[in-house]
Amino acid sequence: MRTNAFATLAAGFGLGLTVAALPGTVAAQGTLNLYCSVQIEWCQAAATNFQRDTGIRVNMTQRGSGETLAAIRAEGQNPRGDVWFGGTGDPHLAAAEDNLSQAYESPNNTYLQPWALTQWNQSGKRAVGIYAGAVGFGFNTELLARKTIDAPACWADLLEPRFKGEIQVANPNSSGTAYVIIATLVQLLGEEQGFDYLKKLHANINAYARSGTGPIKAVARGETGVSLSFVHDAVVEKNAGFPVAYATPCEGTGYEIGSMSIIRGARNLTQARRFYDWALTEPAQRLGYEASGQLQTPSNKGAPLPPGAPDLGQIKLVEYDFAKYGRAAERRRLIERWDREVGSLP
Ligand code: PLP
Repeated sequence: MRTNAFATLAAGFGLGLTVAALPGTVAAQGTLNLYCSVQIEWCQAAATNFQRDTGIRVNMTQRGSGETLAAIRAEGQNPRGDVWFGGTGDPHLAAAEDNLSQAYESPNNTYLQPWALTQWNQSGKRAVGIYAGAVGFGFNTELLARKTIDAPACWADLLEPRFKGEIQVANPNSSGTAYVIIATLVQLLGEEQGFDYLKKLHANINAYARSGTGPIKAVARGETGVSLSFVHDAVVEKNAGFPVAYATPCEGTGYEIGSMSIIRGARNLTQARRFYDWALTEPAQRLGYEASGQLQTPSNKGAPLPPGAPDLGQIKLVEYDFAKYGRAAERRRLIERWDREVGSLP
């Protein structure tokens, strides 16, 4: 078994939802405005269960990580959200650095994996890890077999002509997943060679999706042969009955510490802290899998790795420098460079 930080471990845009009162809900205890950047099914399950457990009415808005950061920034003088639940860790770190979120120490921190608390410490106690997941390739086994295309095993494979027009990835302006992929390649290859790789890869890309989960869903539907995605999402599609498999790159790959932050100036601070504490508990973390079939690695030590979920302890991971790549200026610089040199290519 490889050793890494995990080795010891045993869409739609602006989609809004107000959770209707449920039978058996306790008396109303105020309101929570929840910004959510995991898959919609998990966002809905979190909102519904938290409301049922506490009586706090939840208004939930689901958007990608980059889009949520942009919204929180735009609303900085007049915050409308209270808690940001989920999404890749880098934009949560950028929000912390730009004073868009606030410090909080939950009594439930004691139940968390070390990597979740590393994120918390690095963010000045403003963002905590709630799950982790690795980047890799998802592919449609039937589509590739029909076209007699061998599945990719390495980053280098994706540049081969056999994948022309067959690969989909997300746009880093809206998607945290896409930013993790860029930061991974820069860390693996160095910045110049990383961008050289991304420019060459562009020739094989058929679309840059808005959300990080768009490409793997396109793989499942047979609209594209290969996606660059979090590999746990490939298993989600396989479990839903689609001919999907995944591989993690032979050269090594990056990963996310999916995070949670309380927004600075939250109008419902008591409810926000209540949600934050709740989201770190074992039953809440089990919900990702049990209520919505999601397969991230939970950060609560008592929440088991869901059956069939990729085991991060077995994947060759880069030593992802979250402090560097989560810095607001670095994130902005790399995304602007991508816009200039890759996204603008014909
Ligand atoms: N959905 C899942 C299952 C994820 O693991 C993540 C990453 O945190 C996201 C969505 C984030 O999506 P996006 O790349 O659109 O920010």
